[in-house]
Amino acid sequence: MSHTAHLETVVREIAEEMAQRTDRGEVASYIPELGNVDPGHFALVVTDAEGNVAAGGDADVPFSIQSISKVFTLTLALGMVGDRLWRHVGREPSGNAFNSIVQLERERGVPRNPFINAGAIAVTDVILSGHQPREAIGEILRFMRFLAGDPSIVIDEKVAASEKRTGFRNTALANYMKSFGVVENPVDFTLGVYFHHCAIAMTCRQLATAGRFLAYSGKNPSTGLSVVSAERARRINALMLTCGHYDGSGEFAYRVGLPGKSGVGGGIMAIAPGKASIAVWAPGLDKAGNSHLGRIALEALTKRMGWSIFGV
Ligand code: GLN
Repeated sequence: MSHTAHLETVVREIAEEMAQRTDRGEVASYIPELGNVDPGHFALVVTDAEGNVAAGGDADVPFSIQSISKVFTLTLALGMVGDRLWRHVGREPSGNAFNSIVQLERERGVPRNPFINAGAIAVTDVILSGHQPREAIGEILRFMRFLAGDPSIVIDEKVAASEKRTGFRNTALANYMKSFGVVENPVDFTLGVYFHHCAIAMTCRQLATAGRFLAYSGKNPSTGLSVVSAERARRINALMLTCGHYDGSGEFAYRVGLPGKSGVGGGIMAIAPGKASIAVWAPGLDKAGNSHLGRIALEALTKRMGWSIFGV
């Protein structure tokens, strides 16, 4: 069997196995609009270096990418200010929940890493500086459309509004950072941009395409166009491996063995460097707020394909 045919078979099998499972986790309900999503959905899409796409399940159904957007805002912010970004945010795993506030007090308002909520809000604030919120949101959306090669990607305004209405914790985190000068713009503006980039809706097919530059040394292998340097792609992958699943990052590395970033919409983007860019979606979450079946599906995929970065 050719490599591509083997990959297609594996993806199809996993989608079938996941469709039958009854342990589906719990959909996020603290953002009311996400609570309406059917936990029966499942999608898995894998793109390889040659541009082959293996897709299973609801590969073309858009979902709220939520915290997966933080990988792309990190990429944009590094492009804008380079290593000065690290004055606003750290690079260590948090070992705490994604919306925890305790660590911020101990560490004087500088969040542990760019993927917990506080850290992503700090990154968004950097992107916003010198711009109107509308321009910053437009810039992030255009970047996603460019990476996915798809101008039809939009922000789900209902999700953004739902999150704004109930975003008491994020508001607390942002105000707290503002008191230390880590957030520079008006808190409402920074949070407005943050809620909107979390509310970008994408399909697994679009997301797997958007992640390709991270799998291939910063370049889109189909166009040869460079998005970031190879060094930057490697470092973003390192952060995804150590921090991409909050206090579930150790377990994800142990079971899946790939850099990955989850979102409370139930999506996960995972990168097999040199081999594949992967997107999975199953809306039910585990206790750490990561997709329950998404992680199980990725574990099966890396095992069957021999893709763990730690060996076969
Ligand atoms: N927008 C969500 C929040 O701020 C993102 C959290 C997540 O996806 N883990 O709560």
